[in-house]
Amino acid sequence: MTSASGNATGLEILLSTLQSSYDVQNTLSILQILDELLSAGTVKRIRYMISKGGSEALLHTLINMTRIFPPNYDVLLPLLHLIIKVGQRDKRFGQKAQEIGAINETLNLLKHSLPQPKYVTPCLWVLKIYATSVVTGAALGKSGITRLLFKLISPYTTRNTKAVRRAVDNGYIHRLLKLYQDWHQRDTQNRFTSIHKALLNCIKNITNIQAGKKAFLQADGMRVLLSASQAYGSSPGLQPVIKLATQVMRKCHPKQPLPLLTVRSCYSFLLPNAADSQPLACSSMFPQDVIAMKEDDEEQDDEDNIENEEPVCNEDDDDLETDLTRLRPNPQLDRAVEELKQYERLCPELTGYFQDSGRNPNGPSGGCILNPSKHKTKKMHLSMQRPSVDSSKACIQTVTGEERPHFLSQSWSIDSEQNGQHAGYKLSQMRREMVPFHDPHVYTMMAEKTRSASDYKSLAFPDYWGHISPVYQEPLTGQWSGHQRDKIFEDIQRLVSPGDILNKVVFDADSLPLVTSEDDISLKFYSHFESGNLRKAIQIRKYEYDLIMNADINTELQHQWFYFKLSGMRAGIPYRFNIINCEKTNSQFNYGMQPVMYSVHEALCGRPHWIRVGSDIYYYKNHYCRYNAATRGKKEASYYTLTFTITFLHSKDVCYLAYHYPYTYSTLMTHLHLLEESLNPDQVYFRHQTLCSTLGGNRCPVITITASPGAQCEQLRQFWNRQYVVLTARVHPGESNASWVIKGTLEFLMSNDPIARSLRDSYIFKIIPMLNPDGVVNGCHRCSLSGEDLNRQWSDPKPDLHPTIYHTKGLLSYLRSIGKTPLVYCDYHGHSRKKNVFMYGCSLKETLWQARSSIDTATLKEDIGYRTIPKVLDKISPAFAMNRCCFLVQKSREATARVVVWREIGVLRSYTMESTYCGCDQGKYNGLQLGTQELEEVGAKFCAGLLKLKKEEWSCSKQLITEDGAVFDSDNELPNDRRVTPSDGSVDDEPPCSEEIDYDTDNCTEEDDDSIDLAAELSGTSEDELELDKN
Ligand SMILES: [Zn+2]
Repeated sequence: MTSASGNATGLEILLSTLQSSYDVQNTLSILQILDELLSAGTVKRIRYMISKGGSEALLHTLINMTRIFPPNYDVLLPLLHLIIKVGQRDKRFGQKAQEIGAINETLNLLKHSLPQPKYVTPCLWVLKIYATSVVTGAALGKSGITRLLFKLISPYTTRNTKAVRRAVDNGYIHRLLKLYQDWHQRDTQNRFTSIHKALLNCIKNITNIQAGKKAFLQADGMRVLLSASQAYGSSPGLQPVIKLATQVMRKCHPKQPLPLLTVRSCYSFLLPNAADSQPLACSSMFPQDVIAMKEDDEEQDDEDNIENEEPVCNEDDDDLETDLTRLRPNPQLDRAVEELKQYERLCPELTGYFQDSGRNPNGPSGGCILNPSKHKTKKMHLSMQRPSVDSSKACIQTVTGEERPHFLSQSWSIDSEQNGQHAGYKLSQMRREMVPFHDPHVYTMMAEKTRSASDYKSLAFPDYWGHISPVYQEPLTGQWSGHQRDKIFEDIQRLVSPGDILNKVVFDADSLPLVTSEDDISLKFYSHFESGNLRKAIQIRKYEYDLIMNADINTELQHQWFYFKLSGMRAGIPYRFNIINCEKTNSQFNYGMQPVMYSVHEALCGRPHWIRVGSDIYYYKNHYCRYNAATRGKKEASYYTLTFTITFLHSKDVCYLAYHYPYTYSTLMTHLHLLEESLNPDQVYFRHQTLCSTLGGNRCPVITITASPGAQCEQLRQFWNRQYVVLTARVHPGESNASWVIKGTLEFLMSNDPIARSLRDSYIFKIIPMLNPDGVVNGCHRCSLSGEDLNRQWSDPKPDLHPTIYHTKGLLSYLRSIGKTPLVYCDYHGHSRKKNVFMYGCSLKETLWQARSSIDTATLKEDIGYRTIPKVLDKISPAFAMNRCCFLVQKSREATARVVVWREIGVLRSYTMESTYCGCDQGKYNGLQLGTQELEEVGAKFCAGLLKLKKEEWSCSKQLITEDGAVFDSDNELPNDRRVTPSDGSVDDEPPCSEEIDYDTDNCTEEDDDSIDLAAELSGTSEDELELDKN
């Protein structure tokens, strides 16, 4: 009481005593009295206390009490509460705190209180009151408050859903957004980006739960973040902030079903014995139901989804076969020898038939003795005349009853109109010289016979007219870095400003008649032709379209292949196209691949080329959700958008766009027909037979090529002793690259090239160039009409559901049964997520090594001849890359052609050869995309590589050695170290696991790397903290 003067009030005495006391009990008593005094009255009492030096007294007390260590919260808590009560009414409180020197003490207290949230809150309130003074706020900043605050925030970044929920319930998201907006607007120099980021991180974490997302949307968060992100500009320092904002927006974007009534294919096919053979990929749920479910049960972190996108089975050694009995070829026929006799007819070279000379004047022989088509052949007008412009339109309009119209393309009529009358006719004569092994007239004939589930009635112009590879090779586009975000922003803009969106359906394959736009500003789309795939086109903005692909027939999956016609464009304007229902988690479209386009205008000017087109090509996850039959719709995944921009050269052109260079079934039949016409029967023994009829009623051709024998007895013996090479292709219809490769093989084998001659002398080639004609015809990507992947049926193919596989296996079994097990079997495929051309084979030892099996491989014998062909191809085929090959046997692939032919038929050299849809990152074609010419070259070089197998027993001419010397250079040694072929787990064409693209090596700058952020956060060190620590 010494400091109290005579006229001091009781309050002043109390305050004076308080601030000079170091005794906890005394202090506590005075605090209680003060609290009671203030609780009873109104705000006036507080003001009065302030006027008597209350603030200063409390701050001094705070300093005194924080000097006690460890902190005594029994006194500190009431003190802090009183400070809050008073400080809120004192406008100069912050300033006073600074003058008295209480700031550091308060921060220290906060630091000590960090582990105990209940003590943290009052400290924060006090600091908040300090910060109402701008000067004090700055001082707090200098004293390192932000670092402390970040530490505080981090517990919320883990999965503390309770805390997050509290944050949502208390409306923090709204406040955070306001705060963020405030910082963004006032921090015009963007000097405090770590604060922007911190706020965004808070928002991001709160939006991990559904309620948080909802609150974010209600608070107009999308608009706030979008406009801020767009305003940030392109300064590199701001990119992390924009990225974070983008992640939040993408995460919060409401999930939607595709704008379709059902995702099931719009065409269906009634299977034989339909009742008991329902296709597998079937779910009765509509997307809407699934979304409702999701909203109900899902209260968990969306980042789960993001994590799941990481490659699941990279180096999935668990999948490797380690059972020795299954790792050794164990040939045994699964059919009776009697039954196999039916395949005798497919080996006419082994009977006396060949003496009639190789050529069969009646063209394709055979017929479908095995699977007589249940489809009655319709009576058709098979016009043998070249189509003329005038008649074409009329034909289309006179579709009546049972009659099938002339197979004249709608495109044909449109295309011709704009180019003057009869231009097409004149050019069609010109072009016969231009495109080798193609003829529009023959094509029309072949197309007449082709059966489709959708019963299309027009031809696509490029297939009709033919394609020639341009003379130049097209480079990989590199990465369109920086603009993916702009595309995503444009997508989000639709949600923020729905009024600007046209949302006009301009094409819909589901509605009959097909909707096509009639006005001038919209593009016109069309896909109702062979291999066509486009289900719906929606105009979004004046020059932007959303496109939806059709699922494979009898499924609701496999969206990848597209092929459609478009017209009505204006030259010089960039059109943006978004294919919004892609399924794969990544794509070579992110790494330099472009789709292909064919311009009718250009073709009629003598440039009939499919060329790579498109700029600003990106592939990213979108907000459309798909429900997966495999998960019974419980947790749906997202679709992906492939976006690209095309600026057309000519107005009112008719163009065709495709995923990859189309190659239809009718093209194949045309090609085979013309090959047969071109051959010299004295030199080439060529047979075109029908393996069987497909479910859809198309003939599956099987080709035999070898050298015609001479008449001498010795020559005949040599002929019969030739070894077999069996090649198949295009089991996956979307892999049109495989068809171009087999085209190269066929043409090379028929050619006068000395190597081809030697090959014919040495081998009998059995080629089934299209294992899945129905899939190709109907524009499927992966399946047959049964809705199944035919390359998973080889273990037990069913004659009624998988006839082409059943009979190909039958033919191979037959060859084995007569002691003619093929020397080589290869199935040609296409690969959408890797570059180059490479092979998969089967090796016992490499598989055991990779699986780190305890089996002693030293005692096991293995013929390493399986490496010969890929090693030779590595030297002679520019696109081929040995180091991408893999010879591991995976359990999940045991029903594929490669493994079954190796294991059951006993073919040591049994391969899958994969050709990229994209280009090469090694060798002569490094940096280039593959065109059809390069693909055909792959097919030719594959054959050349077979020569190596004849090295010992074959006396070759010196000329041949010099021509393809490399064939003979490579050695046959075992890989001397145990270095096993690099495997990324995807030992087959299209592995079930997600992508294997290496983001680092492919320099992907724009990927959504939430997972990395998440990892950093979970490890407890955020980037911000690191930055602050440096300061
Ligand atoms: Zn494939």
